[in-house]
Amino acid sequence: MATMAESDPILIVGAGQAGATAAAALRSGGFAGRIVMVGREAPLPYERPPLSKAVLSDAAMDDRIGIHPAGFHGEQSIELRLGADVVAIDAKTSVARLDDGSTLPFSRCLLATGGHARALPGLPAGTPGMHLIRTLADAQGLREAMARHGSMVVLGAGFLGLEVASTARAMGIGVTVLESAPRVLPRAVPPAFSDWLQQRVRDAGVDLRLDTRCGSVAPVPDGIALGLEDGSRIQTPLLVVAIGQSPEVALARDSGLALHPGNGGIRIDAQCRTSAPNVFAAGDCTSQHQPHAGLEMRLESWQSANEQARIAAAAMLGIDAAPAATPWFWTDQFGCNVQMMGLPAEGLAYRWRGDPAAAAAMPKLLMLGTNADGRLRHAIAVNAGGDLRQLRPLFDAAVPIDAARLCDLSVPLRQGVRDALAAKPALLPI
Ligand SMILES: Cc1cc2nc3c(=O)[nH]c(=O)nc-3n(C[C@H](O)[C@H](O)[C@H](O)COP(=O)(O)OP(=O)(O)OC[C@H]3O[C@@H](n4cnc5c(N)ncnc54)[C@H](O)[C@@H]3O)c2cc1C
Repeated sequence: MATMAESDPILIVGAGQAGATAAAALRSGGFAGRIVMVGREAPLPYERPPLSKAVLSDAAMDDRIGIHPAGFHGEQSIELRLGADVVAIDAKTSVARLDDGSTLPFSRCLLATGGHARALPGLPAGTPGMHLIRTLADAQGLREAMARHGSMVVLGAGFLGLEVASTARAMGIGVTVLESAPRVLPRAVPPAFSDWLQQRVRDAGVDLRLDTRCGSVAPVPDGIALGLEDGSRIQTPLLVVAIGQSPEVALARDSGLALHPGNGGIRIDAQCRTSAPNVFAAGDCTSQHQPHAGLEMRLESWQSANEQARIAAAAMLGIDAAPAATPWFWTDQFGCNVQMMGLPAEGLAYRWRGDPAAAAAMPKLLMLGTNADGRLRHAIAVNAGGDLRQLRPLFDAAVPIDAARLCDLSVPLRQGVRDALAAKPALLPI
């Protein structure tokens, strides 16, 4: 039986956000040995956030989304095997098998396998007229279709669905968005924020239909026919299915690693270690306890992929890493850069800083969500990323805040934050 040798390479499975960031972090952390990164997609590692935004309207973006400059991997002696699949890993013997039949012993392995877009039963990937969006190839296919059609239907009013709708409206395409929940972004933002955003979506000319479920979907000669549960029927030449992502965990499952029974992600600890020694995981494929939410969950975000990659790289090298930063996320849609810090949770009380009812082409708003102890747990900024950054110390210090004062526009935010931090010794339980 083969056994792992320290001289064997570090294997990174998946050349996406987490994989590429981990490879770079291994080198900056002082690792001089072999790093082999195997990725299913052919392009050099690229950023996915632009795929549902600028890439859909601008082909020139395709060459501007690389995570690192083109020569980076060569300069850093990171061996890239692109367009290749790892088909099995044996965590006991520390050997991986690739789709060309070759085997690769590893000293440590990072699973950075991401996720895949969920498809609808009856409309598998590749159905003409139906588009999923996860890869650059998906975005290129959708861009080509958007250039040919004057109208489209988007299924799902989550971040991706709304971003695609926003980009399409800016291109003059007629858009209908169907969402089964009674509001947009139901798991990510409070109802008052959904209400506010829904108005903007409709003001942009989107036919947004909430509480709307699809009973049937079927390919027809000119596109896709959708039968809605209210009995009505929509036919569209172009359907974008944006109903969420599933973690890519086939390798982990087949090699016996622990998966979360609810969310299906690869379970990792705070150092991104899986249940097998020498196997680590990072990014969208993982499930990890989130101290900011007090529960184990999957975080599908650019920042989380980068943070876990950084921490996993340090753990693989046996060096200490600073703990993960407070979760942060952004989306660009309908003329707004929306950024969030912390995580939403049941029972938070939310308050606006700024007037959401004021009509503005470029609104500037903050929304603060505090828990029963008055601690800031979730904040949402609209075109106010700088303000959001000012709130970071309040998350880090976890001090109770006077949310009414922090939301009082007559008090400069910087002052409100300073005062809340200064009050910390008196307010914190001893
Ligand atoms: C369209 C879109 C827009 C987004 N917008 C935002 C945004 O605005 N803000 C934000 O915070 N986040 C956004 N995200 C989320 C963010 O991009 C992801 O959280 C991040 O890319 C996750 O990185 P990852 O490395 O875990 O997965 P990925 O980047 O998906 O990389 C995983 C890679 O592993 C490969 N792979 C899987 N299995 C194997 C195997 N067995 N062998 C070899 N290779 C394999 C896959 O093909 C893939 O290339 C967006 C995501 C998408 C899809």
